[in-house]
Amino acid sequence: MDSSLVVEQITPTSVPTPVDLGLRFDNSFAQLPGAFYTRLAPTGLSDPYLVGFSESAAALIGVSADANRQALVDVVSGNRPLAGTDPLAAVYSGHQFGVYVPRLGDGRALLLGEAIGPSGEHWELQLKGAGKTPYSRMGDGRAVLRSSIREFLGSEALHHLGVPTTRALAVVGSDQPVFRETTETAAVVLRMSPSFIRFGSFEYFYWTKQHDALRQLADYVLDHFYPECRDDPQPYLAFLEQVARRTARLVAHWQGVGFCHGVLNTDNMSVLGLTIDYGPFAFMDSFDAGYICNHSDVNGRYAYNMQPQIAHWNLYALGQALVGLTDDIDATKAAIDSYLKEYSRAASAMFCAKLGLETMQANDDLLVTGVIDLLQAEHTDWTNFWRMLSTFRVDGSDGDAVRDSFIDRARFDAWAVRYRERLRAEGSVDTERAKRMNRVNPKYIVRNHLAEIAIRAASASTSSGGGTRDFSEVERLLKVLERPYDELPEFESYAQDPPDWARTLELSCSS
Ligand code: AMP
Ligand code: MG
Repeated sequence: MDSSLVVEQITPTSVPTPVDLGLRFDNSFAQLPGAFYTRLAPTGLSDPYLVGFSESAAALIGVSADANRQALVDVVSGNRPLAGTDPLAAVYSGHQFGVYVPRLGDGRALLLGEAIGPSGEHWELQLKGAGKTPYSRMGDGRAVLRSSIREFLGSEALHHLGVPTTRALAVVGSDQPVFRETTETAAVVLRMSPSFIRFGSFEYFYWTKQHDALRQLADYVLDHFYPECRDDPQPYLAFLEQVARRTARLVAHWQGVGFCHGVLNTDNMSVLGLTIDYGPFAFMDSFDAGYICNHSDVNGRYAYNMQPQIAHWNLYALGQALVGLTDDIDATKAAIDSYLKEYSRAASAMFCAKLGLETMQANDDLLVTGVIDLLQAEHTDWTNFWRMLSTFRVDGSDGDAVRDSFIDRARFDAWAVRYRERLRAEGSVDTERAKRMNRVNPKYIVRNHLAEIAIRAASASTSSGGGTRDFSEVERLLKVLERPYDELPEFESYAQDPPDWARTLELSCSS
């Protein structure tokens, strides 16, 4: 026997002691057979520090920053294991920009385990940026601070806007360099979700012809997340239809708040209908239906106005993977196509609510397309327009703030006549309508320039060589984003149109 191996095994300092956060775990995904994942521990980061922390996400599993700050940094950085977890990287595949890629998987994410929160809810805890895995391909297994802060803010913001999403509990950074277009520094996001299973998880087992594993995965998802489908004579079809409907409602939400995902590959589509895998996402500032937030997306496949049809296309990829279980092509198509009706219903309801309408009438879609044409013509700020529309008065006695925000007043007036008529017809009361509208039309979103300001302060020492990193803006911005529908006079500047310098900001996939 090689004696150096023995020495290696008994070196006491090589195994860090686990951190006990007092959490209970039920690692059900790790109970699935080995075909679904590879077990491995995170690769630690040197001298880590806490960049951001979401109290509301942490409360879901009963963790507080004050009590557990250092312990959290140790766990999220990957430097110490979390007691009770069983870390693994999951395998999946998927269609990227329309092309099937046979093997993807968690190339830089690790599922730690499934924590049981105080209310009994189960939350998978996942580290994103925790080092290389067998699925890393050419990647380094890391995430940069910039994109980690964006994912943290983006997912918490969408949650508080009421849009289904994975959550982000914390971001931990390190001065360890990471090489992208320029040299940046590493960070890890601790994400939370009931499950991180994707359309691509099913595609992988379908395309590798692992039929038993495919069925096992479907049964796992049904039992844990769609138990009601078990009562259906065709449980897998019922499941597919439910995914289609949830996806439809999700996309209608995105369209309503002007959210552009940026990389709607099937590996970035959650089977729970959640927003997942934040990359070059953006909330639109000035409206352009064809807005492309990801500058690597040269053909605009994932442009804002493409999202509804891309989600439908993606459901076909999931449906194809499930056909061996549903055993009926026509019924599978019908389940997928339930997306169309549900999207149309959800989008109409969303836009009626944005207009402050209490009822839905046959011609309301014309009112919606009319207003969208106005915004398109002048590239009006999406968020501020809808927010301001709540000041519209049925009797025309308002201070014309909305009207004044357009250059082509005659065009606005023509639309306003129809809007006013429609409001009168349902006896709309200005004050009541304004309250309703302000509950669906947010004042605060993650504007690119706001995230950028927080990122620049948090990155300070690397760019200037010696400046101090300042994470206070991440914290302040999160506080604002946690109350997107409120009026926060002290944060008025966070609701303003972007400054000129922000117009040249570009977002790419290299996160
Ligand atoms: P994304 O577009 O970020 O969802 O990633 C697509 C695929 O590439 C997934 O399998 C990721 O795990 C993998 N990936 C992305 N960035 C990296 C990286 N830096 N290192 C390893 N794998 C990565
Ligand atoms: Mg992804």
